[in-house]
Parts: sequence; C-alpha cells; structure tokens
Amino acid sequence: MTASASKSAMIELFRNELELCGVGPGQKVAVLSQGSQLRQYATAFLAAARDLGAEAEDVNVPGSDSADAAQRLRALGENALSAHPEAMQACLSADLVVDHLLLLFSKEQLAIQKADTRILTVVEPFEVLERLFPHQELRKRVEAAEGRLKRARELRFTNALGTDVTFNLGRWPVLTEYGFTDTPGRWDHWPGGFLATLANDRGVSGRVVMAPGDIIYPLKKFVESPIEFLIRDGYVTQIGGAASADELRNYMESYNDSRAYAVSHIGWGLNERCLWDVDLPGIGMDGRAHYGNVLFSLGPDTEFGGTNDTSCHLDLPMKGCTLYLDGELIVQNGHLVPEDMRVEGR
Ligand code: FE
Repeated sequence: MTASASKSAMIELFRNELELCGVGPGQKVAVLSQGSQLRQYATAFLAAARDLGAEAEDVNVPGSDSADAAQRLRALGENALSAHPEAMQACLSADLVVDHLLLLFSKEQLAIQKADTRILTVVEPFEVLERLFPHQELRKRVEAAEGRLKRARELRFTNALGTDVTFNLGRWPVLTEYGFTDTPGRWDHWPGGFLATLANDRGVSGRVVMAPGDIIYPLKKFVESPIEFLIRDGYVTQIGGAASADELRNYMESYNDSRAYAVSHIGWGLNERCLWDVDLPGIGMDGRAHYGNVLFSLGPDTEFGGTNDTSCHLDLPMKGCTLYLDGELIVQNGHLVPEDMRVEGR
C-alpha cells in the first residue's frame, strides 16, 4: 500500500467511525493529541470530521513524543491536559472529543463528560482498529448485557481451578464499551466490546484462581502457573502460587501503594472478533473484550465514581469461566448463554 493510499484508507475508516458516533453538520469535534504522538491519526480524524460537514478543531498539547500507549497505560490518570486550560476549554465546548491522549481515569475526562461532551479514545494500532471495527449489532449485545448487569444485585463467577467469588452490586454505574458513542456525556473506546461495574464498597469476597493461559495486562503476558487471590471485603489479602504469582506480586509491590490491592471492575467480553493473543501490538483490547471472557481487575475505580486513583491497574481476562447474575447463568465455561448476547455458532 502506498503512503497516500494508506492515508485515504485511514480517513475512510475514521469517517465510518465518526458516522457511528453521530458526527455531521452542526457538530463540533475536538481532536486531542500530544506532541507528535498519533499525529497521523489526529490529521486523518480532522479530515474525516470535515468530510462529514462537522467543525473540527486540532487540540495538540505539547509533551513527550516517546511514550507509547502501553507505557502510558501504566501511568493512567496522569495527563498533560491539566496544564493547558485552553485545550481543556476546547474539549469542554465540543460535542465529541477524539482522545489520542488516553485521558482514561483522569479528573479531566470526568469534567469533559459532565459537560455532556462524548469522548472516543483511539490509541490502538491501525491494524487493530481495522480488524475490530465496531458495528451496531455489537452495541445491541453489549446493551443487552448492560440491562441485566444494571438490574443484578449479585455477580458470582467460578472456574475449574477453584475460583468462587461473589460481588455485591447495585451502588455503582455500569460502564459499557462497544467502540463508538453517539450519546451525550458518554465515553467509549475503539475497539471495545465488553462491560464492567464495581462491587458495592467492600462487597467482594472469595477466591480467584487464574489459570495458565489467562492474561495479565498491562504486562501483556500469559499466566504460566496458577495465581490464587484471596479476597476479603473488597481487598486481595493474599496472592499465592509459583513463578507467575511471584512476578505479579513484585509488579504490584513496586507501586508501594496498598490501594493497588483493591478489587476493581468486574464484567465480561462480547466481541467475537477479538483474538486471545498477548503478542498483538497495542494495549490489548483483544484480551479485554474477548467473547466469553470474564474480565477481573485490581486497582483504581475513579472511572466509576470511586476515590481509588492508584496508578497500579491490572486487567486480568480469564478464559473458560462460568458467571451468574443473581443465580442466572450468563457465561458457561467461556460461552455466553443468553440469546440476546450470543453470536450464532459461538
Ligand atoms: Fe481496567
């Protein structure tokens, strides 16, 4: 593919994405980037938004050009926007912010959403964006899952290695990701395809045993030997196991922050196009949104309205689990059960 062909392919894909986001005449799109990071994306989004008749503003804040998305994901909640009020103002006054900065888990993101501005985060490599391009049917299935999770008061999941953990629900919102957003104040991430919520305060207890082949993000590594988390009142009290457990313990200890051991979001994946592969480029949405996974997480909860803003954020997708909402079977050995969440043949 020539450079110009790939540029036009990018603009076309981004135009399709912005159409899913309801962008057209009368809409203002702020495209947020930092330094030269993802400048090619920013330029293509600006062109795509203008193609659709929208007003598009290039909001480029100065800053480090080196950190890739995977590195920035390890320092979530910190970003350059707080030092640039004029850039923040441009975001607040837009209908849609295309975020190449990874604002996730920051107070700036929450303020932008409060202003009824929708936010679409786009930081993944182009091949991932292309392969996992979202569609309305994915949204429908994620929203079907959202309806059930919002009503549920108890989530329990198990696996063959002895996981049996219960989350009491009802206090916190449900966060959905289906890869686009046309709803004022709503954040999404392209690519997506999962949902998550938090347990009530201190409302998680039990045991989670990750199996060999489960994934540790942001490390982008498969578990090699079982890792057992004992959980009491919302906190991991003990991490047992051999080499993989040692590695994880060391990683968490390096943050020197007891809040790293808080249980964070819980949910499951619905994206049938995702691959179970830690060697793919990017931050690893394939594992997080993988069809039929259970996504268990430790660390911050500010995205849901909580106060834990620890920088140690672990997303731990697990395969082959069984998950119940108020006793109703939702995922059985890694397969989605309810008709309105399932994909034919999966
Ligand atoms: Fe997470």
